Amino acid sequence: MKTELILVGGGLANSLIAYRILRERPDFPLLVVERGSSLGANHTWSFHDSDLTGDQRRWMEPLITHRWSNHELRFPGRLRTINDGYNSVTSERLHEVVAPALGGRIRLGTEVAEVTPGGIVLTNGERIDARAVIDGRGDPGGSYLDIGFQKFLGLFVRLAEPHGLAGPILMDATVEQVDGYRFVYTLPFSNTVALIEDTYYADEPHLDRQRLRSGIEDYAKKQDWVISSVSGEEAGVLPIVLGGDIDAFWDVGPEGVARSGMRGAFFHPTTGYSLPEAVRLADEIAAIPDFESTLLFELTRRRSEELWRRTGYYRLLNRMLYRAAEPELRFRIFERFYGLPDGLIRRFYSGQLKWTDKVRVLIGKPPVPVHRALRCLTESHRPNK
Ligand SMILES: Cc1cc2nc3c(=O)[nH]c(=O)nc-3n(C[C@H](O)[C@H](O)[C@H](O)COP(=O)(O)OP(=O)(O)OC[C@H]3O[C@@H](n4cnc5c(N)ncnc54)[C@H](O)[C@@H]3O)c2cc1C
Repeated sequence: MKTELILVGGGLANSLIAYRILRERPDFPLLVVERGSSLGANHTWSFHDSDLTGDQRRWMEPLITHRWSNHELRFPGRLRTINDGYNSVTSERLHEVVAPALGGRIRLGTEVAEVTPGGIVLTNGERIDARAVIDGRGDPGGSYLDIGFQKFLGLFVRLAEPHGLAGPILMDATVEQVDGYRFVYTLPFSNTVALIEDTYYADEPHLDRQRLRSGIEDYAKKQDWVISSVSGEEAGVLPIVLGGDIDAFWDVGPEGVARSGMRGAFFHPTTGYSLPEAVRLADEIAAIPDFESTLLFELTRRRSEELWRRTGYYRLLNRMLYRAAEPELRFRIFERFYGLPDGLIRRFYSGQLKWTDKVRVLIGKPPVPVHRALRCLTESHRPNK
């Protein structure tokens, strides 16, 4: 049967699109082409219950490896527990669930050299045609978005004694503030197994892996946790968007090709997290009765541009974080934010802020100098280089 849809890159976004389509149409002739040896590489993706609708959480259920009913935040002047469920999906589980659903419709260890609206060319010269193609090859880089960075390294550790946590700590900012806003993120997978990540909202993307590993070891010691073994690690450098030119981002091509995930700027501007947007895009694509390249391209570009327009306020907050606050005082912005009501915090992360929320976030004694905050009001649409 002729291939209807090629998904280039078997990362989070394209795996979810494939999985969502195949739930409705198990025999659909699609093809996932991934250069790695499995779907999803090496990631632990997490999301709040409130990021997704009930229907979306239901179809994501088989991919979820851990769920906690609340999570904690720790700042020098504030401790807070929020009763919003938190979920993790691992790349191993993604592969275990999605690869069997694909059966023979997956090519692993296969690098794509060229992507066009009607097909792809592999690095070995083989050409594969299809009615439509979705480019999900991850963050394209480039200089069209003006960005800061959320960079982190996490260790999967086994502890000698139980850690005593009731749920995840999404931000522990009681640690020394260096290289921007620094916090430690801990996901307790069992009483003695956890992922501990040292995280920075930094100006520069460079990741000093050894320094972050030591940061995690020091943090564990301060919690009286004895690390008996480390079974693995994961690291990332995610874009935090301050401004930029979304049209130029899309114009750079490949021309006329639909995009998903980070490749299409489908991520939360303040966290760089893309799972909720990937779920929404998968829903929308799976509902299309007939895949056609122009239609898919227009749908994904329009969606990305709409997301950009809707998230201008987040970029303003990001500019205040990166440009108005001194790097080592950035934590104050988050410390103040986490004094706001639960509902507002949920709407912030799910991208559903009401105009009253937007006012509420900004009123009161600003945690940054007013004259610097005012300079952040204007967004630069010029590329940053
Ligand atoms: C370690 C880490 C943890 C993260 N945690 C979270 C989280 O908790 N929650 C959240 O929402 N977001 C998280 N993110 C951010 C974001 O959601 C992820 O980066 C996510 O994986 C992006 O999905 P994607 O499909 O756009 O890209 P990717 O998942 O990066 O997938 C792109 C795929 O394309 C493949 N590829 C690239 N080029 C080619 C080619 N030429 N030919 C064939 N294949 C190719 C790659 O091998 C890769 O598998 C995390 C990111 C990282 C790095």
